[in-house]
Amino acid sequence: MPTVFSRIVAGEIPSYKVAEDENYFAFLDINPVAPGHTLVIPKRENDYIFDLDDKEYAGLQMFAKRVAEGIKRAIPCQRVGVAVMGLEVPHTHIHLIPINSEADMNFFKEKAVVSSEEMTRIAGVIANEIQSGHPEVY
Ligand code: AMP
Repeated sequence: MPTVFSRIVAGEIPSYKVAEDENYFAFLDINPVAPGHTLVIPKRENDYIFDLDDKEYAGLQMFAKRVAEGIKRAIPCQRVGVAVMGLEVPHTHIHLIPINSEADMNFFKEKAVVSSEEMTRIAGVIANEIQSGHPEVY
């Protein structure tokens, strides 16, 4: 059975997409730790990030870098924090979170309440920032 993230890539489940290329996909986390919290995934299903072969792992990290640069330009923050856990969804994903302090990386604190209109707006701003630097991303 495909993972929920494969179903997002296939367009069977809606998402707030921010970037995509041939092999990778990025979209807003539906339950964000902070506005702009984004997930970056390989399109090919693989549960555990360190099971990716070197080429796909390096490609994922390069794609995540482009997405993080877009987030940094779109959302006022000191930097973009990175986390990988994957205990909930068995499809490799990198969390990219705009942060101003270490406490902003706390996954146990109350989640940000972001309306669907605001999620759409944020995804659009991040997508524009990524594409302005990397036209190969769509
Ligand atoms: P983890 O597997 O622990 O790294 O966390 C999985 C993350 O995926 C959580 O932050 C969820 O909020 C997020 N998530 C689960 N389903 C969706 C979805 N349909 N769209 C966007 N994010 C999701």
